[in-house]
Amino acid sequence: MMERMERLRRLRRTAALREALAETRLPPQRLVQPHFVIDGGGPDVPIDAMPGIARTGLRRLVEQVGADRDLGLGAVLLFGITPHKDERASAATARDGLVARAVAELRERFGDGLVIMTDVCLCGAMSHGHCGVLEDGHVQNDASLPLLSAMAVAHAEAGASVVAPSDMMDGRVAAIRRALDEAGQQETAILSYSSKFASAFYGPFRDAADSAPKSGDRKTYQLDPRNGREALRESLADEREGADMLMVKPALAYLDVIAEIRRHTALPLAAYNVSGEYSLVKAGAERGWIDESRLVPEILTGMARAGADLIITYHAREALAKGWLA
Ligand SMILES: [Zn+2]
Repeated sequence: MMERMERLRRLRRTAALREALAETRLPPQRLVQPHFVIDGGGPDVPIDAMPGIARTGLRRLVEQVGADRDLGLGAVLLFGITPHKDERASAATARDGLVARAVAELRERFGDGLVIMTDVCLCGAMSHGHCGVLEDGHVQNDASLPLLSAMAVAHAEAGASVVAPSDMMDGRVAAIRRALDEAGQQETAILSYSSKFASAFYGPFRDAADSAPKSGDRKTYQLDPRNGREALRESLADEREGADMLMVKPALAYLDVIAEIRRHTALPLAAYNVSGEYSLVKAGAERGWIDESRLVPEILTGMARAGADLIITYHAREALAKGWLA
């Protein structure tokens, strides 16, 4: 027998002990529910590759968010799905655009009791589907910044608490901050998609949001999945530009990046548990191969343990409704 065996199992002996000593917790306030918003008052339009998730019309959105609030969800992230596409993303930058109207309705209904975040990117309203202005087959960084800024200002003026640029153009956080301040929107925060990778995990989302590029890919602006140090540089650059919060997207294959950024900044950090991560879980559960009720909390807790303060996840509503996070 050892002189003194380290008996770590002592603290795992009962459920009450384990509960008292759990290091990571996931209250509903840490979760953000994304919404794909479409115009009109019609019924939800289910998304095939994302079981349980739908495109939601403006009227239904208010109902859905109200029901989610009863589950304890206090934050939403809005994506606008528009059929109006051109070379300047006019539908995205318009003051009376879809997302701006959705924000105004939610703000009127829920007041300051709801954290309204909006995705700021041009791809959903661009005829070519790229996240910036396209000229001669190349995405133009600096020419995209005024459009992104106009989109952010439109959302802020409608009442968004947080604007979240996801385009990955250089300098966009500084440009958006300046535009918000000049528009008198000093109180609107910026959650930068600061370390966003060119990932195959976005597949189901691109169908849902109808935002796939018509030609080429996004590798000239999104991060190479092989590069962790560059991901850190991207996030720290956005902090210097004035971002209030940072993000890693996707999350599951990038937990090391979350942990590394956590060590280098005091800013709040979000993890985006993206569509492909969601759909894989759903597919496995449908086949009876995995126990979703245990897998979802394990995945989300892993992101929190890695260092994420906020977790943007399509699982949020169902996980809370079914008590998976209890
Ligand atoms: Zn985009």
